[in-house]
Amino acid sequence: MDFFNKLGKKVSETYDATAEKTGKITKEAKLRMKINENKSDIKELYTEIGKKVYEKHVREENIDINSDLEEECTKIDVLSAEIETCLKSILELKDKKQCPICHKEIEKNANFCSNCGEKLEGAKITNAEEVKEELENSEVEADNETEKEIVEEEVSGEESEDNTQE
Ligand SMILES: [Zn+2]
Repeated sequence: MDFFNKLGKKVSETYDATAEKTGKITKEAKLRMKINENKSDIKELYTEIGKKVYEKHVREENIDINSDLEEECTKIDVLSAEIETCLKSILELKDKKQCPICHKEIEKNANFCSNCGEKLEGAKITNAEEVKEELENSEVEADNETEKEIVEEEVSGEESEDNTQE
């Protein structure tokens, strides 16, 4: 009976891990789909911009980016920002981050880029804070321990004196 309980537990644990993994894969697939949709929308906008520019050329008119292409450019800005957000979410799903210099995917807790060796600011700040916290904590602990040791030494010293006297 115990064996089957253990087996059942193991199976459900494996199932949870698989479900989580599947969930992540589904989320990533959705994000990648969104990225692809945005990319093709951006391509269409580029075509529209090109068409507008050419039509201006045909009519021998000058093009004013601010008034003539504002709508298309703003749409591209929004779509590009969405792509950036999706890419960041995908990295988070995979527990990774991106090197700001070479843009390679690296482990989230890495202090240096495994590709170009760049020192990673985010990790450095966190580490510095952690080290500072550790130092502060260890100082407090060390003080307490030293005091304790001194007290114990005094006590044992007295005891040993007492022993020699007796
Ligand atoms: Zn790098």
